[in-house]
Amino acid sequence: MNTALTLVGISLEYPDGDSTLKALDSVDLSIHSGEFLSLVGPSGSGKSSLLAVAATLVRPTTGLVVIDGQDVSALKESERTALRRDKVGIIFQQPNLLPALTAVEQLLIREHLRGNPLKAARGKAEELLDVVGLAGAAYKRPHQLSGGQRQRVNIARALMGSPTVLLVDEPTAALDHERSESIVRLLRRVTDEFQTATVMVTHDTEFLPLTDAVATMRDGRISRAAVAAAQPN
Ligand code: ADP
Ligand code: MG
Repeated sequence: MNTALTLVGISLEYPDGDSTLKALDSVDLSIHSGEFLSLVGPSGSGKSSLLAVAATLVRPTTGLVVIDGQDVSALKESERTALRRDKVGIIFQQPNLLPALTAVEQLLIREHLRGNPLKAARGKAEELLDVVGLAGAAYKRPHQLSGGQRQRVNIARALMGSPTVLLVDEPTAALDHERSESIVRLLRRVTDEFQTATVMVTHDTEFLPLTDAVATMRDGRISRAAVAAAQPN
């Protein structure tokens, strides 16, 4: 099976007064295309740090990040940026949409900044809005959308670059139960349809059965289990 994201021996230290704080401690993780992994653990255990390293936004103190067969540590900054753009989709809790733009424009802005022709991109953007259930809302602006709809725009935007790896940090923290469940179901469907390797940080343990496996973080260390093993009986 194709391993989309591999982390080997990752440690991440932050300066902390006279000493250092180990946000990540010897983390190994492998996830393949089409796999949907939940990442759980108490606040401060290193979940967001792990996503930042996997997203190539933060360089680990030690260890190896391999995305789609490429060793990220060997790359220059400009090459890392290009790899991130081409292979990584990032979805944070807050959609961070631009207030003046329609849903379809939110998806097109990066294509525009990349200097790509907008004609083909517009077709793709409309298709993706359809995939996330927003076909009728493509020309609405953020204030005309519900919180759940804004998060769907966020997801569609992350898919615009056809990412290999999809990194999602607490996508449902600002949503009620019903909307949360539909967002996790959507991420499941997107993972299957686009064969992304998806890592989702979540506090909603009841949605774990929608994912393939669960990794638990504690004090910067990770342990991984099948979903059934992580479920209380
Ligand atoms: P989680 O997402 O599980 O809540 P984080 O990855 O945000 O955990 O944080 C892990 C640890 O690293 C925490 O102790 C946090 O305070 C620390 N930390 C995170 N980001 C920074 C930073 N930029 N500078 C210093 N310490 C940080
Ligand atoms: Mg966090």
